Amino acid sequence: MTHAPDASPALPALSAALAERRDDLIALTQDLIRIPTLNPPGENYREICDYLDRRLRTSGFETQMIRAEGTPGDSDRYPRWNVVARREGTRPGDCVHLTSHIDVVDVGAGWTVDPFGGALIDGRIYGRGACDMKGGLAASIIAAEAFLATCPDFAGAIEISGTADEESGGYGGVAYLAERGFFSPQKVQHVIIPEPLQKDRVCLGHRGGWWAEIETFGEIAHGSMPFLGDCAVRHMGAVLQAFEDKLFPAMAARRTEMPVVPEGARSSTMNINSIHGGQAERLAGSTALPSHCVPDSCRIVIDRRYLVEETRDSVKAEIAGLLDGLKATRPNFDYAMKELNHVIPSMTDRDAPVARTVAAAIAEVLGREAEFVASPGSYDQKHIDRIGKLKNCVAYGPGLLELAHMPDEYVGVDDMMDSADVMARSLVALLLPTDETRPPH
Ligand SMILES: [Zn+2]
Repeated sequence: MTHAPDASPALPALSAALAERRDDLIALTQDLIRIPTLNPPGENYREICDYLDRRLRTSGFETQMIRAEGTPGDSDRYPRWNVVARREGTRPGDCVHLTSHIDVVDVGAGWTVDPFGGALIDGRIYGRGACDMKGGLAASIIAAEAFLATCPDFAGAIEISGTADEESGGYGGVAYLAERGFFSPQKVQHVIIPEPLQKDRVCLGHRGGWWAEIETFGEIAHGSMPFLGDCAVRHMGAVLQAFEDKLFPAMAARRTEMPVVPEGARSSTMNINSIHGGQAERLAGSTALPSHCVPDSCRIVIDRRYLVEETRDSVKAEIAGLLDGLKATRPNFDYAMKELNHVIPSMTDRDAPVARTVAAAIAEVLGREAEFVASPGSYDQKHIDRIGKLKNCVAYGPGLLELAHMPDEYVGVDDMMDSADVMARSLVALLLPTDETRPPH
């Protein structure tokens, strides 16, 4: 990567090829939205992969359909399908992989339009997944097709994938593909994930996450004589108090060098996802009276998001330290802690080739400097980093993150066009090197 994108004579033709494809981009986005790929349970993955397979083969890609057999949720009723397409250039060079997830989250209440209708209203396409991330997927396909139409004599290769299950952790999607070598640095050199981070931002990575269940124990007794038992909920109250007194202030004081947006996520954070102790909650409509028991168990689930400067071990040790402190000082206190899930933080260097290239293309297309950001929540970059061992990866795509998972989700057509332009120019910069003497990777 040795030249600015504006150095290429291919750009006027590329702009024309993109402009010609505006209606195609709209239709493609609508088609993708109209295949409801709800996760859970993981519906219509095969249908959307077949659609992408047809589309990309027509554009000259070789395609593979890969079912992530045996991954969480995979069954004959809900198979975890992925599609990976590759188009070789005319000579050796780098491979640029554009990867998008095909699944969408639950619709939820509050919609004023059909969530799977793909309505085009005032330059916006509406539907579940419009911004997260079928709009980004469509923009990446149009970008690649416009590039191929104008620059057929390119070096290296382009890959486009549609992957399953990002919304439930990506184990049946990018993680599965990474385990099978699809993101090894020998095969792929640059990855762009068109998540909806905004058309003027390059997202370098995301925080880590550690989920755990903590249980406190007690002793069951009659509710009229709680002194004969030991209330596990009161013990949990002591845990929550220790979190308030020590953990939350300590986390809030910790600041990361990562450019996480929004600002509040630049510290360590923790959510308490759930709490339950004692008898099961009464079913709706039940008229039965509760029985009187001292609870012998109370459980919470915590969702601790951590910074690139922290480690899983330090996160775990900090919480275990508080619990052990209670064990040493509070009569009859005992606990169990069980890890439920973990994802590493991931951060690409802003000088990495793909980050610099996309930022330069943003400046070209939008006429202003790109903003480098990081995401508060994780996305598929973690698998590309940890399993694939590939560091040269960013998220870049159209749409506003705030709209993801909301009612009346939409993506702007102009935003998709601008993002497609940025992606296409990035392909020019990475696959039409003006200096063929670059050192190999
Ligand atoms: Zn997403």
